[in-house]
Amino acid sequence: MIIKSRIESKQLNILRCLDKRGILTEKEVSNYHSLEKGFIGEQKFDRWLEGLSEGTLILSDLLLECNNTFFQIDSLIISETTIYLIEVKNYEGDFLIEKDKWYTVAGAEIKNPLLQLERCEGLLRKLLHVLGYKIPIEAYLTFVNPEFHLYQAPLKSSIIFPTQLKRFIKKLNMTPSKVTTKHINLAEKLISLHTNNYSFIRLPDYNFENIPKGITCQYCHSYLNKHDTFTLVCKECNKKETVIVAVLRSIEEFKILFPEKRATLITIYDWCKIIDSKKTIKRILATNYKQIGHGRSSYYI
Ligand SMILES: [Zn+2]
Repeated sequence: MIIKSRIESKQLNILRCLDKRGILTEKEVSNYHSLEKGFIGEQKFDRWLEGLSEGTLILSDLLLECNNTFFQIDSLIISETTIYLIEVKNYEGDFLIEKDKWYTVAGAEIKNPLLQLERCEGLLRKLLHVLGYKIPIEAYLTFVNPEFHLYQAPLKSSIIFPTQLKRFIKKLNMTPSKVTTKHINLAEKLISLHTNNYSFIRLPDYNFENIPKGITCQYCHSYLNKHDTFTLVCKECNKKETVIVAVLRSIEEFKILFPEKRATLITIYDWCKIIDSKKTIKRILATNYKQIGHGRSSYYI
């Protein structure tokens, strides 16, 4: 039973919006792409979990804190006798382990994901102890991409390869499990401890003044131009979109990028840039959002 489902992280949403506007550095773009790929991998794993029979509780994407240290859990499966801690990786291509160090076949060292899993397991164990739970934890590093291969993988390890996923789910289903109030209370406790405090995550430096304005195309992310009173057209792919839909999408992007900034008529007018008529913007805001205050300082939520 899914108790907490997965949603895109704030960080991923922000990077997605910034990438469209072309203001990320090469390193930030690569970080963004790996987050995007990681999220796709986690969703792929979620689909595998749909095959789990009743009798387990599934919590996806938890950000917890123990001893002033944050740790992120991709998937947590609570069964009657065991807690399964799953770290999901969507790595693609050939990798190699040599003396506990991980490399790409090209020879570049990458962070050892088993150490990351160990750290996470240790912190979760401590947290469960503080909460008064004594359920054994089994931690697994799961690779979901069929194009992944690991040379010199240890024979006995906590790694689940794409070809073993089906058997892993089967094994879980073969283990009889019945969750009780104790398990549900634990799941609820963990959800209540889940924090949205991503302040430790470093985001690119941007502000409303220096960010390129305009409405981006939903298909190719180029900027839209005016086509006629009711329609916009993409400079690159020529796809058209109605003014209302495009403006609403752009307002949502504004809210993701500037959650602290008030959506006033002038701000949204500047943000959209290509809509000549303030009246049009005002009508879209008034129809779809709630107006707070009156006059020039009023804003919409
Ligand atoms: Zn386009």
